[in-house]
Amino acid sequence: MATRRVGMFGGAFDPPHRAHRALAETALEQLQLDVLHILPTGQAWHKSRTLSCARDRVAMCQLAFGDLPHVVIDEREIHRQGPSYTADTLSELRREHPGAELFLVLGADQLLAFKTWVRWQEVLQLARLAVANRATHIGAHAPLDQTTEADLSDVGIPFEPLRMPLKNISATDVRARVSQSAPSTGALDVLVPEPVARYISQHHLYQPPT
Ligand code: ATP
Repeated sequence: MATRRVGMFGGAFDPPHRAHRALAETALEQLQLDVLHILPTGQAWHKSRTLSCARDRVAMCQLAFGDLPHVVIDEREIHRQGPSYTADTLSELRREHPGAELFLVLGADQLLAFKTWVRWQEVLQLARLAVANRATHIGAHAPLDQTTEADLSDVGIPFEPLRMPLKNISATDVRARVSQSAPSTGALDVLVPEPVARYISQHHLYQPPT
């Protein structure tokens, strides 16, 4: 029997945007995954800001990825007590999928920070990394048409590049745009899948406090 191929794609997904969706689609196809676990993070140890509530982020993940075949929205990190570490999640997936080949899907910014991750050596033993490149300048109002990719040549960590066009979208930028100008659902569609744009506006997410 062929070895099962299992992917893990974690993130704050606050909100999930079109680059996340492209990453998931590319990983499914290029890595020929039998299943891709999408994991909205619980208490993200490496993010300084408070995340939106888990219920909203999970609901938006369902809207952003739920129609893709072989995708599971996996809530385990949300329900885990204390900080959430990728090494723990991969160990659980290893137990649940004995004999499978595990892939960890991530963006270039996370690869560049990889050696700061808790138990990163264990992560490398458990899974192969599959990495989408990202523009060098990311964050609120970074230009959408940047073409300069992060230089990953000296990173010193083995990884498989995901072949997808550079997408200069960040959740930070989405939140900043919504909070500053409450754009119409139509205007947000460029950055996030349309059902996510509707959810953001119906639930008044990312609005400045009144
Ligand atoms: P924020 O702006 O709030 O930090 P983000 O846009 O980086 O959020 P996350 O939910 O933190 O989104 O990212 C989840 C994963 O998706 C990470 O591995 C990240 O590197 C990757 N990712 C996010 N946006 C992109 C992008 N535009 N291109 C490639 N990878 C991306």
